[in-house]
Amino acid sequence: MSIAPGDTIGILGGGQLGRMLALAAARLGLKAHIFAPEADSPAFDVTPLQTQAAYNDREALARFASQVAVVTYEFENIPAATATLLTNWRPVFPTADALAVTQDRLSEKAFVGSLGIATAPYVGVDDAGSLARAVAQIGRPAILKTRRFGYDGKGQAFIREGSDLGSAFRSLGAAPCILEGVVPFVREISVVAARGQDGSFAAYDVCANEHVQHVLSRCAVPASLSPDTAGQALEIARCIATKLQYVGILAVEMFVVDDPRVGPLVNEIAPRVHNSAHWTIDGAATSQFEQHIRAICGWPLGSTRRHGSIEMRNLLGEEVSQWRDLLSREGACVHLYGKREVRPGRKMGHVTVVGTENPPVETSGSGQN
Ligand code: AMP
Repeated sequence: MSIAPGDTIGILGGGQLGRMLALAAARLGLKAHIFAPEADSPAFDVTPLQTQAAYNDREALARFASQVAVVTYEFENIPAATATLLTNWRPVFPTADALAVTQDRLSEKAFVGSLGIATAPYVGVDDAGSLARAVAQIGRPAILKTRRFGYDGKGQAFIREGSDLGSAFRSLGAAPCILEGVVPFVREISVVAARGQDGSFAAYDVCANEHVQHVLSRCAVPASLSPDTAGQALEIARCIATKLQYVGILAVEMFVVDDPRVGPLVNEIAPRVHNSAHWTIDGAATSQFEQHIRAICGWPLGSTRRHGSIEMRNLLGEEVSQWRDLLSREGACVHLYGKREVRPGRKMGHVTVVGTENPPVETSGSGQN
């Protein structure tokens, strides 16, 4: 089905990513219909087309599908069964297959390994007994992560010398997990890239990411990497997108270690628009949100050209209270997500500064989980 301006995009998920996708769709003359379970979804504020229902509400999903031309999603924790069901009625991008691989840390790591791309050492863990065997294999320290539904460090337990394995496993709800070795990284980076329906590929420049208590706090582009490492990172993203026959924006988070013989190690693939590319709204010829919309509509991808050096800071929790001051700063591009409830570490907005002559964005206080 060919999609034209005036048509409606269906978006599963109502957070800030859905909100920014809907705004980008509007810019291209498209309408956006948000499907989300929570009444106070930030994306509901920017479009009148909305369905508030659970992701397993078959009737609501069928009605939603009948009102949209194509379906996408703003986060990977929607049930793969929901994406599969919607595929019966409308094209869904990224596909339900890509979602299934990337929403489970074990299948994701196995997939990445099958491409000959390095990851942290890992072992699947199904119960307390297999955790003990995994720790014997990986050693300590190690990180226990739930296979599904983790984000921003949620669903993770650090296993140190002396940590009690049973209580670590129980603290994650005794859910299926993987145990990962700790990577002694010197930098965390991400590549955000788009693949079109015709196989075209366009990546943004590699971004360097800093986290505060597992939540992304600051991004910088360029990422101060050797050209070799940056090239390897881009190739990894291209290889993953190609092998998944991916359509849309994907983000590949990687660790860089202090050993030139070791290339970037993949930590995680996000099958969606990503926080580390919010800078593209103000700092690139085509934002990641517009690029995603173009890709899922089968339209030509846009230029990923960067306008200057980039500094992006998230406004986490109470940091958002500085909005008035930030608005008065020369060159600061302020984005506020309209969330009423401020919680520690919650992503409330972000600020981007483009160009070398501008001072970095300072925010006092730090977000917490
Ligand atoms: P994740 O939810 O997997 O992205 O993990 C959140 C953050 O925890 C990452 O951005 C890293 O800072 C840290 N982390 C996760 N896995 C590892 C690992 N295997 N080695 C070292 N740090 C890690």
